[in-house]
Amino acid sequence: MLDVADVSVVFGDTTVLDEVSLRVADGEIVALLGPSGSGKSTLLRVVAGLVPPDSGTVRIGDADVTHVPTHRRAVGMVFQDEQLFPHLSVGDNVGYGLKMQRMPGGERTRRVSEFLEVVGLPGFEGRDVGDLSGGEAKRVAVARSLAPHPKVLLLDEPLTGLDRELHDRLMVEIAAILRRVGTTAVWVTHDADEAATVADRTVHLGDL
Ligand code: ATP
Ligand code: MG
Repeated sequence: MLDVADVSVVFGDTTVLDEVSLRVADGEIVALLGPSGSGKSTLLRVVAGLVPPDSGTVRIGDADVTHVPTHRRAVGMVFQDEQLFPHLSVGDNVGYGLKMQRMPGGERTRRVSEFLEVVGLPGFEGRDVGDLSGGEAKRVAVARSLAPHPKVLLLDEPLTGLDRELHDRLMVEIAAILRRVGTTAVWVTHDADEAATVADRTVHLGDL
């Protein structure tokens, strides 16, 4: 379970998050909606440990992770622009977090191919990320975020920049993947239809 309790974030003299609370049950996908600039990305960054909250707590499972560094939170992220590592192959992108975890090479290779299969890109290990289509790059980003078995997956407008047809196809496919894997996820979007399709529950940041 993810439990964000009374989190506030102040940048300069602007309060971006004002005692925000959000609970996500194990295996639940919550869509997070809100106007541009309302603090959606900031909230994800607090959960990921990339922005320290000025007050409040973040719990993942039984642990208070409010002061735990990002790499020890078991949180995965998918960003709006995939932010793949351009100098690494597809396989090394997907295996990056596993390497950080010091997973031995053989096991890593198996895990990478397992998750490339999960996202429908079997055999893509040796491909150059620069040669991927937009949809393939999104799939690689999803595989990379899921491969280390995160306890919580954060998706920040993961389907922005795709044409309508590809958007709709990937939306359904990625949601199905998250359900198959049993991921606990927060999915930020501007699109109420996307929220209704991918999530068990939709929350508006202004209401939290
Ligand atoms: P969008 O839908 O456009 O992505 P958002 O809801 O994700 O918007 P945030 O990116 O969380 O909004 O930003 C919320 C506010 O906090 C914005 O006004 C932004 O300029 C400000 N902000 C974000 N990060 C910082 C920072 N590191 N320093 C100062 N201000 C920041
Ligand atoms: Mg944002």
